[in-house]
Amino acid sequence: MASNWKVFRQKLGNSWSQLPYLGRSLTLVWQAAKKWTIVWASLLIIQGLLPVATVYLTRQLVNSLVAALDVGVSRENVIPILILVALMGGVLLLTQVLGSFLNWVRVVQSELVKDYISALIHKKSMEVDFAFYESAEYFDRLHRARQDAFFRPTALLENSGSLVQNGITLMAMAAVLTQFGVWIPAALLISTLPAFAVILNYSKQNYNWWMKATADERRSWYYYWLLTEKDSAAELRIFELGDYFQSAYQSVRRKLRSEKVKLAKNESLANLGAGAIALLITAIALTWMLWQVLLKRLTLGDLALFYQAFNQGQTLMRNLLQNLGQVYSNMLFLGNLFEFLDLSPQVIDPPTPKLAPTNLNQEIKFENLSFWYPGSNKAALENFNLTIPSGKIVAIVGANGAGKSTLLKLLCRLYDPQQGRITWDGIDFRDLSIQNLRRLITVLFQKPVDYNASVAENIALGDLLAIAKLPEISNAAEAAGAAEIIDRLPENYHTLLGKLFTGGVELSGGEWQRIALARAFLRQAPLIILDEPTSAMDSWAEADWLERFCQLANGRTAIIITHRFTIARRADIIHVMSDGEIVESGCHDELLALGCRYARSWKTQMQVN
Ligand code: ADP
Ligand code: MG
Repeated sequence: MASNWKVFRQKLGNSWSQLPYLGRSLTLVWQAAKKWTIVWASLLIIQGLLPVATVYLTRQLVNSLVAALDVGVSRENVIPILILVALMGGVLLLTQVLGSFLNWVRVVQSELVKDYISALIHKKSMEVDFAFYESAEYFDRLHRARQDAFFRPTALLENSGSLVQNGITLMAMAAVLTQFGVWIPAALLISTLPAFAVILNYSKQNYNWWMKATADERRSWYYYWLLTEKDSAAELRIFELGDYFQSAYQSVRRKLRSEKVKLAKNESLANLGAGAIALLITAIALTWMLWQVLLKRLTLGDLALFYQAFNQGQTLMRNLLQNLGQVYSNMLFLGNLFEFLDLSPQVIDPPTPKLAPTNLNQEIKFENLSFWYPGSNKAALENFNLTIPSGKIVAIVGANGAGKSTLLKLLCRLYDPQQGRITWDGIDFRDLSIQNLRRLITVLFQKPVDYNASVAENIALGDLLAIAKLPEISNAAEAAGAAEIIDRLPENYHTLLGKLFTGGVELSGGEWQRIALARAFLRQAPLIILDEPTSAMDSWAEADWLERFCQLANGRTAIIITHRFTIARRADIIHVMSDGEIVESGCHDELLALGCRYARSWKTQMQVN
């Protein structure tokens, strides 16, 4: 018994540890919809008191009726009865009207809360480290936060609302009932306690299950996505993967379903037991009530009032405890949202950032830098040193996996190195504000984003601060070799790209890449980095583009990352990278004369072309 008590207390302790989320959730609701929350709370209080009025009016009515029947029906005693009936009708009508109004207020409020939370999630998604996007745990959290964000706050609000409303009614009812004996409200309370225990227990169990099932859930989502997305549609058809992924989806779902069904079954059984206890106590109270009637200790009005109050009291009590359980359950789930919102990034601004330079005057230097990807035990770069002089076109060539893109990610501060540093004219990157640093750089990523937007917008997104006009946009397009492609489009710069929205035009991989390049060009940053800029271009286009790029880069510092030696040729300095190290450096002719890796690769690639 003692140990049971300890377990119970521990459970209770665990439950209360979630309580801070209640305050946070309500604050969130308040911040999202201040005015509506006031209206909502006022309506709840009024609605909470109306049932008590009904109960009292009922007693008056019954007693008046009994009195009228005693002395015989006459005009004088019918009028008060009619007034009472009218009052009762009024109260019922008011309950209806307020109920409808409250429903509407709830919709407004919940829509506001939903959008407010989405905004919080979006903000946090932008704030967290890039590294988060490479951890499954992050996606588990995001998944939970996203799912719960949709309906939990609103549900919590509704539960808390019902809790308040039912609480008010119940307290008033309890006050009414105590006149027949204090034990009656107590019996009410006791009769519903087992149900409450069941609710609390299963809230926790459901929650634990959900935490455990997130990874599977996300897997099922992934299959769902594969089966319905454009990106995978072609492969799925060619390789006939439809049935394969469908059955994979079904098997994950089967597992999740059977676990959920089992939980629901146990919960139903527990509820049945709790219901039986409540019924027993009700039977006792009813027997007592009838006994009192037989002893003529109650008037018929009292009887009506008692019956109504007890009946309603029990329903209320049950609802109240259910609300409490739901509030608890929603709070558990909202914990996920708050956990997500509490994620804190590691790559952060320094307390007092140095004034950002506007140009690159001397050089960018990687100094004794070592870097491991989070969770990886092999260094992607170790004791790495590299100097990028201002105003030069620097090519970094090397096989796949050499570490070229890693350099780019470090330059953009998507990651910070574990050892060593990168400097911009001698200033450590970590001493600059991230925003200022990133504004010094423009990048064409290896896999740029194809925005489903107009051509002009696709390019203008490169620099929203500049509010680019069409001439600047078309200059950037020209520089990227995208102008001819755009001229062929039905509405030129106003053509909607991508097939996601009606009227969109799809481009080829190489064409998309040019648009992305134009976007990178648009931003007038002193450092321009291109990661495999011609990977989707044919070699003719490549040569043509390269010529233009070298002219346009004039004065700007450029880093071209590529595994194609034919591109590297035009660069001022070529660094050959292998296994996270620079193994050869020099200009094209120097490297050819050296006769090592670059020279060998150059010869083979020339033969292929
Ligand atoms: P590349 O020269 O082809 O651009 P990367 O810089 O992308 O090569 O990769 C360098 C090495 O780091 C590779 O061995 C790759 O497997 C590893 N790597 C790249 N990205 C990650 C990552 N997000 N997490 C762990 N390892 C990574
Ligand atoms: Mg790469």
